[in-house]
Formats: sequence, structure tokens, C-alpha cells
Amino acid sequence: MSLPHNYEMVIGLEVHAQVTTKSKLFSGSSTAFGSEPNTQANEIDLGMPGMLPVLNAGAVDAGIKLGLAIGADINMHSVFARKNYYYPDLPKGYQISQYDQPIVLGGKLSIDMEDGSSRTINITRMHLEEDAGKSIHDMGSGGTSFVDLNRAGVPLMEIVSEPEIRTPEEAGAYMKKLRTLLRFLEICDGDMEKGNLRCDANVSVRKIGSTELKTRCEIKNLNSIRHVMNAIQHEAERQVEIWEKGGTVDQETRLWDPDLSETRTLRSKEDAHDYRYFPDPDLLPVNLDAARIEAIKGTMPELPDALRDRFMSDYGLTPYDASLLTSEKSYVSFYTDMLKNGADPKLASNWMTVELFAVLNKSGKDLDESPISATHMGELVSLITSGKISGKIAKQVFAIMLENAEKGSVMAPSAIVEAQGLTQISDEGALKAICEKAVASNPDAVAKFKAGNDRIFGSFVGTVMKETKGQANPELVNKLLKEAIDAHA
Ligand code: ADP
Ligand code: MG
Repeated sequence: MSLPHNYEMVIGLEVHAQVTTKSKLFSGSSTAFGSEPNTQANEIDLGMPGMLPVLNAGAVDAGIKLGLAIGADINMHSVFARKNYYYPDLPKGYQISQYDQPIVLGGKLSIDMEDGSSRTINITRMHLEEDAGKSIHDMGSGGTSFVDLNRAGVPLMEIVSEPEIRTPEEAGAYMKKLRTLLRFLEICDGDMEKGNLRCDANVSVRKIGSTELKTRCEIKNLNSIRHVMNAIQHEAERQVEIWEKGGTVDQETRLWDPDLSETRTLRSKEDAHDYRYFPDPDLLPVNLDAARIEAIKGTMPELPDALRDRFMSDYGLTPYDASLLTSEKSYVSFYTDMLKNGADPKLASNWMTVELFAVLNKSGKDLDESPISATHMGELVSLITSGKISGKIAKQVFAIMLENAEKGSVMAPSAIVEAQGLTQISDEGALKAICEKAVASNPDAVAKFKAGNDRIFGSFVGTVMKETKGQANPELVNKLLKEAIDAHA
């Protein structure tokens, strides 16, 4: 994805991440997903007269965790404010959010690109706020709309980036990295389909070389990484077209329509709200102490960036493989379990991310539902590493393991190798005779090889492999064939 005419994109993302607390930000109502509409909203969520919100300490701890993980400043004193606007799914007539004194300021996120390179994006701030309810317009007939308040008051972290993102791919990588981090910290499940992670993308375009910030448009509520990337690309193209025609881009809030692949005006800056923010008089300022922050520091897991660097140095993995393997906690434990019985780390990485992931992708399964355990995947790779079977035979064994799993039976790869007699032939004496025979029976090919046709060497290998049912040690075969050819008059 790119832009024509020497333009570049300027992108800043505002991400809303639902905090995985059991109860809401200011009330004891459940946050469980998928319940009957309006069964999880109490007086506080409804804004009844006399109600008093009480801050959920777990949501504050989650905010501190994220702040520490991105190397931000944790504000020891932060304030909840009322953001006033009226909406049918906001019964209080205001949303409790943080305004000029958010809990987290600054910080950085390092994003990993497909080519193995990394870039750092600065974070502006992170504040806590409550979610609104949900209006449903496509269920009733005759223009009836419905309101479900189960989501009203659910805790959100709003994470705002600096306008430093330059391409849709970087925006996608930013979302992926943020999701990885939130999931590692176990403070948000990152499920975009359920709306637990949503993104508003601010986009402007400018001529390359310029440092000016041009007028931006904000595309609201993007609920998949693909939508984030596609919406940004189309919005940027729309803006370039306007500038190129001599027009001006108006500051607007826009919606992404994935079916038509276009963004559409939702509201213009003229309709911008004046939210009349003021500190919520029902809530005390949040004053943190150093001991609480130290205690949270003690619960922090090893973070994905540190793990990636360790995987690269300990196991010699490429940046791409290392960041893939550290993008989910479950990947990290599967991979490290694979290595427990002497499997070569690079080979194990390949078998997991290429062979096993292909199988999982095809069946639409997560790693947690893998038909083959980490122990057996590791054992299969150990068999290759120790020279007991070749990579080619391993694929055969892998196929048998998958077939077994489908039938609901489990057999260790070493047992399959024994039972099917698939052990690699590394007996030099036996192989030598077979190689010599392959060479002697094809003098034409020998002549061609000696005349410089290197590719014909493969035909000797093919003959030997056919003879040995693919079980000959390939390195040994190469060596012995060369010797046999050299010895051939
Ligand atoms: P608001 O409070 O109106 O949403 P902010 O200044 O907080 O405005 O910016 C919101 C987001 O827009 C941030 O992620 C920021 O990086 C991004 N942003 C600001 N100016 C631009 C611009 N000219 N082009 C693209 N993104 C921008
Ligand atoms: Mg905004």
C-alpha cells in the first residue's frame, strides 16, 4: 500500500481497550459478554438520582501495568472528569473519563514489520474511561431502535499515539503489538470481533519532505486490523485527490464502509461537541503511592520485546520468527516446550510456524486446539536433529500424526518411526554400494555431470532415494555419490 505523487501519510491512532475486570469501572455490575440485554446495568450505570460511583481498583492497576510496560510516566495524581453529551445509550447525560490529568503520560511502543525491521512509535497518553451502552438500529421494524445498557460503564483504556505512523502496514503492526502487549499483561483480551479492542484512525497526508501537520480526518470504530489498514489507505487516497485538484480537506469524523471500500462523512467539525469537561464531584482524585506501583512492578511478566531479543540471541532466530513466536503467550510456551528434548531451535521454529501453523490455519484452529502436543512436535524435531530421520521422512511422520489425531488416537513420533521402519539409513557401507550402483548404471548422466551439468546430480540422488524408500541420510548420500562419480572412469 502506498501513495502517488510524493505524498506521505500522517497517522495517529486512538485505541480503546476493554479492561478485563469482572465488574464495571464505577459499579459492581458484571462485565460478562453475551448476557441478555439490560440485565447487567444497575442504578449507578443508569445514573439514578443519589447514586455514587466507586472506582474499581483493578482497572487502575491495569492502567499502571500498561504504563510501566510502555515506559511511560505514571501520574501519581489523576482526575476523573465528566464529558457531557446526550445520547440514548448514555443515560447519565455524561461519560466519566479523564481529561487534562490522565493516569499515564508518554511512553513508547516498538512495532515489528514483516521485513524484520522495527520502529518506535511514541504514545501521547493513556486514560481510563467508561464505555457507553449500545444502540441497536437493525433489529426492530418501523424505525424502532433498541438500547442495551450492559456495556454502559465497562472500563476502557484509551491509548493515544503521536501522529508518527506513516503507512497502513505500520498502523497494522502497531495494533498487533499493542494487542500482544495487552494480552501478555492480561489486562485486555484483545478480541476485536467482540469490540474489546477498537481503533479510531486519524489520517492526514502531506508532501514528502514537509513537516507540516495538515488537516486530518478521524475514522471511527474500526474493529479489525484489516479494516484499520484498508480504511487508512482509502482515506489517504481520497485526501490526495482533493489536494491535487486544488481543494482543501475538511476536518471530519468519518465512517469506514468495508463493503464499498470507502469512508463517508459522519459529522463535520462544525458539529463538534463542546463537552464542557469538569472534574466529577462524586469522585475523589486518584492518588497513587510508590508502594502500590512497586507491588505491581513485581507482578510484571517478561515482556514481548525482551523475549524476542532473548529468542534471537539464545536460539539464533531471525527477527521475524522471534517476533512471531513471542506475539502470544501460548506461542512462547508451546515453543519452549518443544525445545525441552534436544530439538534444534531453528528447526523447531520452522516446524511450528510453517508446518503446524499451516495445518491450524487450514482448520481455523488456535494453537491451544492443536491436534499435536508441543511434546510430540518437539520429539519429531529431535528425531531430525539427532539424525534418526530426515526432514523428508519427518513430513511423512507428521502426516501420520495428523491422521492419528483425526481418529482420536495418539502415538509418539518415535513409536511411529519404529512401527513403520522409517529410521534413516546412515550405514555408510550399505549406502556406498547403492550409490556406486546408481552411478554405474547411468554413464550418460556421469558424462553430462562431468561436462558441467550440475543439475543432473539430482537424478542420482533420486535413484538412491527411490531404492531406499527415501530413508537414506541425504548428506551422506551427497558425499558418497560425489565420491562414486569421481571414482568413475
Ligand atoms: P482530539 O482530542 O480532538 O481527538 P488529539 O490532538 O488528541 O485530538 O489527537 C487525536 C489523535 O490524532 C492523536 O492520535 C494524534 O496523534 C492524531 N493527530 C493529530 N493531528 C494529526 C494530523 N494532522 N494528522 C494525523 N493525525 C493527527
Ligand atoms: Mg479524537
